[in-house]
Amino acid sequence: MKKIIIIVILIVVVFLAVLGIVSPVVSFKDKITINANESLKTDDFIKKVTLGNFESKKVDTSKAGKRDVEIKVKSILGITKNYKRSYQVLDNIAPTIEAKGEVVVYQGDTIDLLKDVKVQDNCDKDIKPTLDGSYDLNKVGEYNLKYLAKDTSGNETSLDLKLKVIAKPSPEVARTSKGYAIENRNGVTYINGILIANKTYALPKNYGNGLTKETEAAFYKMQSAAKEDGLNLKIVSGFRSYQDQVIVYNKWVNKDGKSVADTYSARAGHSEHQSGLAMDLNWISKQFETTNEYKWLQANAYKYGFIMRYPKSKQEITGYIYEPWHYRYVGVELAKELYNNGDWITLEEYLGIDSKYK
Ligand SMILES: [Zn+2]
Repeated sequence: MKKIIIIVILIVVVFLAVLGIVSPVVSFKDKITINANESLKTDDFIKKVTLGNFESKKVDTSKAGKRDVEIKVKSILGITKNYKRSYQVLDNIAPTIEAKGEVVVYQGDTIDLLKDVKVQDNCDKDIKPTLDGSYDLNKVGEYNLKYLAKDTSGNETSLDLKLKVIAKPSPEVARTSKGYAIENRNGVTYINGILIANKTYALPKNYGNGLTKETEAAFYKMQSAAKEDGLNLKIVSGFRSYQDQVIVYNKWVNKDGKSVADTYSARAGHSEHQSGLAMDLNWISKQFETTNEYKWLQANAYKYGFIMRYPKSKQEITGYIYEPWHYRYVGVELAKELYNNGDWITLEEYLGIDSKYK
């Protein structure tokens, strides 16, 4: 009796083992090779499963190359075992290029045309795009180029790029209230071609090295003419460098204080004397206007290209008090216009500018 019970127990144990406490028996198909993005399921890997069942699942074929998939097989009693299988995804898909179809660049500028180009592909490697065609950023024109991208399997894509090299727009010209162009050449302001040094417009520190040849020649001509009328003109102060003006201005500030000094002495860089076009004649005093030389200058200076730069009652406009001794060379044509039959027009009024420290 006991023997029979033991035999029955053994039979049950063997039976259960066979039923699947032990792993189910799985056989797989041979090597799987598939094109990218084609449908593949775990089913395609299985030849046969005995005493169990497997999980049917989609397999990723979006990435090219040798890939692995895990296949779960469950025994009848619910014990799961994982099998790893490899498969080969063939890359027959070309990369895609994402880039602007048209790029506009100013002549002479530089640009990295590959910088914002994105390439996507189903292979593992990062694919760098290249540019096909030639162009010249220094030459205005339209260039038809091509972006190229090639993956490791030799699939290639191209994308057209139109490169337009256009002329740089001329910078917006600043104009005075009278419409004259304000031009800055190496830090020097020219308005309608006339060099301007006043409280608004300064000269660069290193500008100037004496009276200009033209100014000097015009003065000598004027001096000779005055001499024929029995009068003696002389330059008391001609060119003053930036450094000279620092000393002059500081001297007056120490004597009269800044706000008073500013009415008759220019801050360094703002003095017309640094331009090489201005000069103080004979007597730096208001009383100069009582002399015959002054009267002669008032009637004749313009004929030689000089203007009285700081006339009476124009302090609000020029920024400086009346200076009967200060003359500025502007050339005969303009001087005649500004002379205005003795009723001097200032450069500020003529050009439509102001003279104020910022
Ligand atoms: Zn002066």
